[in-house]
Amino acid sequence: MQLADMAWPTVQALDKNTPVIFPVAALEQHGHHLPLFTDSLLLGEIIRRVSAVLCDRALFTPLTWLGNSDHHLDFAGTLSAPPRVYLDTLAGLCENFIQHGFKRLVFINGHGGNDVPGKQALFEVRQKYRQRSDLLFLFATYWNLANPNTVPGLTLKQTQMGHACEWETSMILRIAPQLVGAYREAHPVEFGNAFEPGFRAWITRERTIPGHIGFPNVANPEKGEALLQAFSSGAQNFLERVIRWDGQSWNG
Ligand SMILES: [Zn+2]
Repeated sequence: MQLADMAWPTVQALDKNTPVIFPVAALEQHGHHLPLFTDSLLLGEIIRRVSAVLCDRALFTPLTWLGNSDHHLDFAGTLSAPPRVYLDTLAGLCENFIQHGFKRLVFINGHGGNDVPGKQALFEVRQKYRQRSDLLFLFATYWNLANPNTVPGLTLKQTQMGHACEWETSMILRIAPQLVGAYREAHPVEFGNAFEPGFRAWITRERTIPGHIGFPNVANPEKGEALLQAFSSGAQNFLERVIRWDGQSWNG
């Protein structure tokens, strides 16, 4: 179900155990060869595929295209909600649907910079409603919901998501090839090892000059379709677990 298409009495009449899915993405630079809307286009495609399968078993809000992209602000065109504003916005969306009586609230994310504020938002909302035992708050980034390196017949150079990389370029080549520039000429930008397994706070321009991280030069649309299928079925399986949840257990 698409929230944007419904009238409010229909929403009010829904079973309040229906999962509410908030897709959250971004508008930010994606190198010289991909559009600024890459993250929103890709998550939108995955959500489109998943919502077509789940039909009336889950309620999908429109995609929130404004994300936390402050680390990309050295590159023109990037739009970013400041991290604390973004955190409060996601917490606010969550609280809106708690007020409407819903109990299973799920953020499906398509941008790395949303990960920390998104999880913190849910952490804070959970503490606020600590007297409740019937609430489920989840945050999941789509490329963590499947491992494409184990897909039979799919040979990838990258073993992790980069930025405007082999994976993202392949998927945009599949769904919007007219928006892709000279990706074959994009020089590889290695991931490096910045004090792993520690976390080093970063801004994008200290890792890449053109804006991409990874290997866009080996992208192709066939890889793109295989990646979209893997991530869509990963997201679908995750949401099926949310639908199956018994309403109170820790496990799900
Ligand atoms: Zn991206």
